[in-house]
Amino acid sequence: MAEIKESMKRNAWLKMESDEIQAVYEFNRGYLEFLSQIKTEREAADYFYSKAREHGFVPLSEVQSITAGQKIVLADKGKVCALLIIGQEPLINGINLVASHIDSPRLDLKARPLYEADGQALFKTHYYGGIKKYQWVAVPLALHGVVVKKDGKTIKVAIGEKEDDLAFTIADLLPHLAKDQMELKMSEAIKGESLNILVGSRPLQDSGEEGIKKYILDLLKSKYEIEEDDFTSAELQMVPAYAAREIGFDRSMIGAYGQDDRVCAYTSFQAILEVEKPQRTILCLFVDKEEIGSAGNTGLQSLIIENIMAELLHKAGVHDYFSIRRSLANSYALSADVNAAVDPNYPEVFEKMNCSFLGNGVVMTKYTGSRGKSDSNDANPEFLGRIRKLFDEHKVAWQIGELGKVDIGGGGTVAQYMARYGMEVVDLGVALLGMHSPFEVASKADVYMAYRAYKAFMQDF
Ligand code: MN
Ligand code: MN
Repeated sequence: MAEIKESMKRNAWLKMESDEIQAVYEFNRGYLEFLSQIKTEREAADYFYSKAREHGFVPLSEVQSITAGQKIVLADKGKVCALLIIGQEPLINGINLVASHIDSPRLDLKARPLYEADGQALFKTHYYGGIKKYQWVAVPLALHGVVVKKDGKTIKVAIGEKEDDLAFTIADLLPHLAKDQMELKMSEAIKGESLNILVGSRPLQDSGEEGIKKYILDLLKSKYEIEEDDFTSAELQMVPAYAAREIGFDRSMIGAYGQDDRVCAYTSFQAILEVEKPQRTILCLFVDKEEIGSAGNTGLQSLIIENIMAELLHKAGVHDYFSIRRSLANSYALSADVNAAVDPNYPEVFEKMNCSFLGNGVVMTKYTGSRGKSDSNDANPEFLGRIRKLFDEHKVAWQIGELGKVDIGGGGTVAQYMARYGMEVVDLGVALLGMHSPFEVASKADVYMAYRAYKAFMQDF
C-alpha cells in the first residue's frame, strides 16, 4: 500500500540516530514523572514557578530594570505562570511567545457537594471542559484543589495519588439492569447530574439521621480542617487517580491523564530552561481556562499578555501605550496545543492526506475551527514558510495537521486570542490518541520533537 510506505517515510523514529533515540527515552522519563505528579492547573503553575526559581529565574516583582539575558518568572492567581528571557534586541521589535494551557477536562465539585443517599455519602459534580461522560464512571478518582477558609487560609488537597492512599469513584450501572440505558445515545446514557462521586458509606456511631454524611464531615474537619460551608470557597477537582504509564511492548508511547495540554506545557518549559542569550525576548506562558473557552481572568481572553508586556516595557523605561501595541504586533507566537492523531479504530473521521499521525513528529496546524474554519486563526503562509525553514535547519521532525474531516466536528485553541494583537501565530503541538479522555496517548518521539521545536523557536527564530 502506497499510503503506508509514504507514512513510514515520515516517521520521526526513522529520522533519528541511535543516540537521539536514547535522548527521546531519557526526556520522556521526566515527562512521565511530571504527568503522574501534576494533575491540575494550580499544581502545574506551582511546579513551573518553583522549578524556574531553582534555575535562576527572578520574580518580575523584584526586577527593577531590564537587561539582555535576564531570566524572569511570574505567577498569577496560582493558575498562570510565565517565564521570560530578555533578548539582545529591544522589546519594541517584538517577542517570541510560546503559550500552552495547563487546565484539562475533569469533574469539579459543586459549591454544595456533599449529600447522603441510600447508605452512601456522595459529592455532586459539574464537569469542566469537553468530556465524554461515560469515560468517567468505574475508574479510580483522586481529589485535588484548594479550600480557602474565611480567614484567607488556603488548604491544599491532593488525595488519592499514593499507592496506599484512599481513592474515589463513580459506580456504573450493572449490565443486568442496563437494558434501557443501553438503548440510549452515548451522549445521554450517563447524565451530568448522575456524575456523583462515592465518598463514604459508614455512619457515625449514635448519630441518627444522615450518619454517613456526618462521619464524612467529621473526617474532613479532623483530617483536613474543612467544614461543610468551606466548599463554597473552594476549587476542588476529581481527576483520574492513576499514574502515567509507558505504552506498548516498545515503550514508544505515554498513556496518561491531562496530556492536553500539559504535553506542550512541559516540553516548552524544558525548552526555555536551555535557552541562553536569545536574540529576541522570549515568553513561555502557561494559562488556564482554555478548555472552557479561555474566559475568566486566568484565561487568554483576558489581558495577561498585554499586562506582562506593559510591565516589561515600563521596567525598560518605555512608558507610552503605542509601544506596547507595536511590540505585541511585532511578535511571533506558537499556540502550543495538541491535535488529534489518526486512529485506525476510527478511520472514517480522518482525512489522511492532511491529518496528523502518531510518531510523525510535532504537528503544525495552520487552522483549526469548525465547519468553514469558524473561530479559527488561519496562520499566514509568510510566517509558516519561515517556520518550515527553522525546523528543517534544526532537524525537527514535523508534520501538518488538521482536526479531522471537514464536516465531522472541530475545535479551537488560544491562537486567535494572540492573533488579535497583530502578532503572527500558528498552532504547534503533539498529536494525541483519545484526546480529552482520562487516558490520552502520545508518541514519545513526538513529545521529544515538540521540545526540540519550541527550543529552536525560542532560541533562534
Ligand atoms: Mn488543548
Ligand atoms: Mn482540549
